[in-house]
Amino acid sequence: MNVIYCDHAASTPLREELIELLQELYRKELYANPSSLHRLGFRAKQKLEKCREEIANNLGASKEAEVIFTSGATEANNLVLLGLSRLSEIYQRNEILVSPIEHSSVFEVAEFLKTSSSEIKIKYLEVDCQGFVKLAKLKEQLNSKTLLVSVIHAQNEIGTIQPIKSIAKLSHQAGAFFHTDAVQSVGKIPFNFEEEQIDFLTLSAHKFNGPKGIGALIKNKQILLKSIFFGGGQEGGLRSGTENLANIWAMSEALKISLANYKEEQQKCRKLQREILGFLSEKKVLGEKIFLNGAETLESRLANNLSFSFKNLTGDQVVSRLNLKKILASTSSACNQQEIRPSRIIENLEGFSDPKNSFRAKNSLRLSFGISNSLGDLEPIKKALYELALFS
Ligand code: PMP
Repeated sequence: MNVIYCDHAASTPLREELIELLQELYRKELYANPSSLHRLGFRAKQKLEKCREEIANNLGASKEAEVIFTSGATEANNLVLLGLSRLSEIYQRNEILVSPIEHSSVFEVAEFLKTSSSEIKIKYLEVDCQGFVKLAKLKEQLNSKTLLVSVIHAQNEIGTIQPIKSIAKLSHQAGAFFHTDAVQSVGKIPFNFEEEQIDFLTLSAHKFNGPKGIGALIKNKQILLKSIFFGGGQEGGLRSGTENLANIWAMSEALKISLANYKEEQQKCRKLQREILGFLSEKKVLGEKIFLNGAETLESRLANNLSFSFKNLTGDQVVSRLNLKKILASTSSACNQQEIRPSRIIENLEGFSDPKNSFRAKNSLRLSFGISNSLGDLEPIKKALYELALFS
């Protein structure tokens, strides 16, 4: 279809070479269950372990970490929060600190624990108007009861990149574990699990041109975690269920390809981002009719993300008008698209619940670039945004 796809934060197209690889996998008789004790099972198991090792190495998690394959990031995020909560008595710690701008697969788990668990206490961190966690406040909130701190690496709606190493260090100083949902940064920002001092990291293949329905939780080996599923005890007992080897292999390859190409890819995205912002500013609509959400300094923002709020057009109006022009974007996180409501992420930024700023959460648009885009998309996007801004 001849469209300009600007919704890569919601999902990305599967790379052509991976489609061939997936077919090849079945031809190579790797369909057997990796837990089976015969030669085909053994071959599948070998491949599974190779993928695990490659993913760990590619994310700097080789020595002290283990990779647990899951059905995606939602499951990995649930596993960390719920699995650790089940161990609060052993750890003698019962407080979980979560940012208010987490993806719903962390935020809703925190809300569930808040209302359903008498043992676990949830505390929300504070973020500033650009979405950065306030480190001084985090320091005050940490104490000897803190079990876990969970902060998203790169925010999926507004693109703000958190200083995760500083957050991890502060968490560790208080004896707490640190989890980061790195779904939007894996394959886009080079980082190292061990150097960043991460204890738990979530990833999902369909955000870096791999297949849907596959992801992983990377965890520090030394940390005890309890499973949330009961069954055959696969994945070191942490995730029962037969491993989806085809998707795991494709995820491992997708990660390799993304990391090999990330520089050029990010340069292209950054150019699209800079030129669109420059144009809207030159036309004097930026800050008047259309407002940028998230980090102001581009270095602290995902290169592929632009989040805007229109003064007088709702997010769904903007998305449907862009759709008519074959420019495909989102109002906020795709998971919330069925239900049209203000963006929780933008509402939770400092000062954005103020009535004079209420349009920011209601009228938001997210453009997210990726391998489907080229610099040829610039002119139609600039023109469409400018026309919409004039309307607003
Ligand atoms: N975390 C973030 C930051 C995301 O963007 C998403 C996908 N919208 C998820 C978690 C959930 O990922 P999955 O689709 O793999 O469950």
